[in-house]
Amino acid sequence: MKKTILLITPENQEINYFRKRQFNNFIQITMPYLAAFINEEHYDITLIDEYNQKIPFKEDFDLVAITVNTPNANHCYKIAEAFMSKGSYVVMGGPHVTLLPHEGTLHCNSIIIGEAEETWPQFLIDFYNGVPKKIYQTTDTPSLKGIPTPKRSLIRRRFFTKGAVIASRGCPYSCSYCNLKQIYCNSFRTRPVGEVIEDIREIAGRYFVFWDDNFFGDIKFAKELLRELKPLKKKWAAQVTLDQCQDEELLQLAKESGCIYFFIGLESFSEASLQSVNKGINNVKGYQKIIDLIHQYGISLQAGIIFGFDTDAKDVFNNTLLACNQLGIDGATVSILTPLPKTPLYKQLKEEGRLLTEDWTHYNGKTRVAYQPKNMTPKELFEGYMKFRKEFYSFKSIYKRLKKSRTNLLHNLIVNLGYKMSL
Ligand code: SF4
Repeated sequence: MKKTILLITPENQEINYFRKRQFNNFIQITMPYLAAFINEEHYDITLIDEYNQKIPFKEDFDLVAITVNTPNANHCYKIAEAFMSKGSYVVMGGPHVTLLPHEGTLHCNSIIIGEAEETWPQFLIDFYNGVPKKIYQTTDTPSLKGIPTPKRSLIRRRFFTKGAVIASRGCPYSCSYCNLKQIYCNSFRTRPVGEVIEDIREIAGRYFVFWDDNFFGDIKFAKELLRELKPLKKKWAAQVTLDQCQDEELLQLAKESGCIYFFIGLESFSEASLQSVNKGINNVKGYQKIIDLIHQYGISLQAGIIFGFDTDAKDVFNNTLLACNQLGIDGATVSILTPLPKTPLYKQLKEEGRLLTEDWTHYNGKTRVAYQPKNMTPKELFEGYMKFRKEFYSFKSIYKRLKKSRTNLLHNLIVNLGYKMSL
């Protein structure tokens, strides 16, 4: 007899408010991907993404699976407890559970630590046979060869933001605030090019995003993939690093294969701040030249910007705005520095007694400050960050930046207005 399974992509209200009205919110692909491992002769699958769906608490499910990231952790624990009190069996995995497994075990029936390619199918078999274990843990980093295509048919009410693809996993770099090294056991891997192309071919729409942590982590691989992608005539975006964008052959291939924009973590316009978090791959003096080059190939730049480094003083907000206007940055995703568990940054701040709370809801990088900054109060950091966002998306700054960029003007205008509306 079939069992019922509910897969949840969680999102608490605080974060949802931020994401909801922005233009380019592509789906989180984890749960559609995990759904592809499920034997449909054993399970009836329901997938809920809290971004645009409500969790059906009144319905009964044999099994509930939740992927947990740090800012959603407390929210996920409440969901788990609600279903367990109704008799459902709850399994959790994802970055937060991988980094803090003991905490995870306190809030559900089973946990999956690390990458799920081997453990998730084993758990599903064990659960179906009535013998699930408390903890499942990978002993190795799984190969990405032959992995299944995400079950996109389960995604509801998403249109052009439905297409997300993973071509690689991890990142070769080691920024001190980033938790990828700890999650992926310090490894960077790519999928076979042909399999990525087949995955992209299955996306019904024209637009998709590479949901990779660093799509240019292996340049030879990226070039080979982009050559194969060109005939598909798709439009795409990806997260990459600035240093690799000096390679004009790579930019040419990106342009020819339909790239619209890169998301690049510039993070800061201060060399000292970048050094303080081991982000030496960004060279502030080289920003203008590389950004101009990216624009020259018709590609927009959505910059990641972070406030709150130990070298940031109160003038950082204004200085950053001036730099963005001058460089012609098309859009920005702005965050407050967040010491995610198990990262070098977390350890440093914990040792220095500067963590203000261990309530994970505060670790979202958007609505709260979780630590004591060095050169300002948490309130000043938060207010400066909010003011920067308003000014960056003011008509004055939009005009200055897009006038300098002169790239994909209509797209950039819509994205900027989308962000402006979300403030
Ligand atoms: S470059 Fe980006 S993905 Fe790579 S370690 Fe740094 S923050 Fe993480």
